[in-house]
Amino acid sequence: MIAAEPRIRDMAITTNGILLAQEAQALRDAGIQRVTVSLDTLKPERFRALTRRDAYPQVIEGIEAVRRMGWPGLKLDTVVMRGVNDDEIADLIEFARRMGGEIRFIEYMDVGGATRWSMDQVVARAEILERIGARYGRIELVVEESSAPADRFRLSDDLTFGIISSTTAPFCRTCDRSRLTADGQWLLCLYATAGMDLRKYLRDGSSNRDLAGLIRSAWQGRRDRGAEERLLLKDRQPLIQVGELRAKPHLEMHTRGG
Ligand code: SF4
Repeated sequence: MIAAEPRIRDMAITTNGILLAQEAQALRDAGIQRVTVSLDTLKPERFRALTRRDAYPQVIEGIEAVRRMGWPGLKLDTVVMRGVNDDEIADLIEFARRMGGEIRFIEYMDVGGATRWSMDQVVARAEILERIGARYGRIELVVEESSAPADRFRLSDDLTFGIISSTTAPFCRTCDRSRLTADGQWLLCLYATAGMDLRKYLRDGSSNRDLAGLIRSAWQGRRDRGAEERLLLKDRQPLIQVGELRAKPHLEMHTRGG
């Protein structure tokens, strides 16, 4: 008797987009169905200031490569920050429309590298919707069963977009996400300051069964409610200070696919 092979039905990647143009075909050939690109601005100067990299053209080229290939699941993730890029909401919606993708606006979170975060910089979901409504008119909530963190909305011309209200209305109670860093740290929450060192278990020769047991038991014991706990704080400051961030690079969101 042949045992059924477990099948992965929905493979996705999240990327900063810099290598996307050159890797798009290989990713597609490898069976990746969905790609999410972080894109906080359409202004090259602003991009440089935000990312400290001069890679705006490569990122746009990567997104265009995905469009040309007709990849069905393109998403663009934008963290909206007051006074930084909140004047680009409509431009980003139109860019996503041209690229055949869906944009998701994410409330600015006090995680990792956001060492200068303040609540004043958070543009809340209600305000994002108000601004989009002022420009486009009627907005409908898309009602769907999904474990995705974004609520999706539809404009009157059928274009859809998403909002992730991670700061003002966190969804920790229904969260089913964890993150694995490139060097094997398994983190159960975006706010986690430490994770399980799976690489160590692999190098110690743990069997797949042992690893599965460890992962299952850690996941079953998971009580993480990072964003909800932060919401209860009265005097909310950035979570991580610069010095600590330098000493522990794992705290940076880009190392954990935040
Ligand atoms: S803060 Fe942590 S528990 Fe809450 S939604 Fe984010 S990853 Fe999940």
